Amino acid sequence: MADIAAPAYRSIPIIPALLPGAMEGKGPFVASDKINEALGFPGHLVDDWHDVAIAKMGDLLSKYRSLKVYMDACVHCGACSDKCHYFIGTQDPKNMPVARQDLMRSVYRRYFTLPGKLFPKLVGARDLTKEVLDEWFNYYHQCSECRRCSVFCPYGIDTAEVTMAAREILDTIGYGQKYSNEIIGKVHKIGNNLGLPAPALIDTLEGLEEDVKDATGIDVRFPIDVKGAEVLLITPSADFFAEPHIDSLIGYAKVFHATGTSWTLSSMSSEAGNFGMFIGNYDQLRTIALRIRQAALELGVKRIVVGECGHAWRVAYSFWNTLSGVGDGADPNDRFAQMLQKQLDHRYRQPSHICEFTWDMIQDERLVFDKSLNDKYRITFHDSCNVARGSSMGGYPGGQFDIPRNIIRAVANNFVEMDSSTTHERTFCCGGGGGLLTDDLLDVRVKGALPRMEVLQQVADEHSVNFMACICAICKAQFTKVLPIYGFDRKVIGGVHQLVSNAIQLGVK
Ligand code: SF4
Ligand code: SF4
Repeated sequence: MADIAAPAYRSIPIIPALLPGAMEGKGPFVASDKINEALGFPGHLVDDWHDVAIAKMGDLLSKYRSLKVYMDACVHCGACSDKCHYFIGTQDPKNMPVARQDLMRSVYRRYFTLPGKLFPKLVGARDLTKEVLDEWFNYYHQCSECRRCSVFCPYGIDTAEVTMAAREILDTIGYGQKYSNEIIGKVHKIGNNLGLPAPALIDTLEGLEEDVKDATGIDVRFPIDVKGAEVLLITPSADFFAEPHIDSLIGYAKVFHATGTSWTLSSMSSEAGNFGMFIGNYDQLRTIALRIRQAALELGVKRIVVGECGHAWRVAYSFWNTLSGVGDGADPNDRFAQMLQKQLDHRYRQPSHICEFTWDMIQDERLVFDKSLNDKYRITFHDSCNVARGSSMGGYPGGQFDIPRNIIRAVANNFVEMDSSTTHERTFCCGGGGGLLTDDLLDVRVKGALPRMEVLQQVADEHSVNFMACICAICKAQFTKVLPIYGFDRKVIGGVHQLVSNAIQLGVK
């Protein structure tokens, strides 16, 4: 930590000078045998890793047509090259999205195209050597799968999907990443990313009830495992104990209380996050999602609402329907998916985001706010990448941008937008997404935060902004860590429902 410093802000955000090799060897820790084996992966690099990796690549190319198109379609126009926050912050040319793709494309050409088999040097094809494999591990773990580069690609090439494929191949040969695989193991064993057991969770919730009673005089409940509740809240486990996350959890509870909504958490399924997506592994993604279905069926809830977590909302919005039967498109041959379809109340969006829930209640005039209680803040909003580029809200295009902002304007007086080249679908990742939120990657995280910090600094200087709201647990954790390195107070970051919690008037309606 001591030797990690923030890069200097750029006076004009131009393409940075190249520093070849700057981030070589700066990748994450490799997972141990125990961690890998708990997920059913080989414990360590298998002897015939080369052949297994190429076979797996062939399997993915045949299964995912998009991957093959991405391998073939790039014309090296360079439009994506300066769009990645990790390239901007590290200046390592291998962190350019096109170069990141080429790490795999060069191997694809060698083994899956005729020119690459016949004239490898002429077409930039490379054998998959151990050196190349190490390069994959290093640089595919310096991509947060944020998809910003794909917004600028004329062919829509999605580097995140290439990164996911590379990580899937690495896991198949026993070369997984410690952080993501360890977290997935905790979800399978305990039910959440933090490894927080049920008794500790129940204690925390009871403590929160006392805290809110002391602060407001009102009995706001934080119910858990309540059969027959209307709403099952699935939220990131960071909401249960870390600051500023917990302030948003208090906000959700106050909204449910004020609207008379019966709700519950689940001790068995106490995690919205799904790192199965980060490692590109469908089986892990599905197994994690099925815990939520099981909880919903056991508790008999009518609605599933997802808390403030960016990638969790992408998984819920985009994949839960086919993974677990929540939403349209549930597998007609999956008995449990069909049971859930019958159980859920289809007058509501399934699943709903907590912001959709709160905004609906605001529009129905079922919530009362004293906006002046947020007057100490001048607020901006950071669009989290998975929400911005992998989901929607409100049932219309762009709802994922409007609804959180609508809520902020409903609960606070002072709202300022950041530079439009860095918001909405062009937003920059916080620098900690995609399985990178680990201290062994702190250097790349700090450097990757540069573009967002530059623009935050701009609104801080010009408009005295002192609070950056967001709706993602990873963004909150990442910014809490890197804000002080850039000279900001760590409390500048917080959740949208933290602002809701500050302003909501309980016992008024
Ligand atoms: S981190 Fe985001 S912008 Fe950079 S290569 Fe990956 S998907 Fe593209
Ligand atoms: S913008 Fe698309 S086509 Fe152009 S270099 Fe990047 S990935 Fe290739």
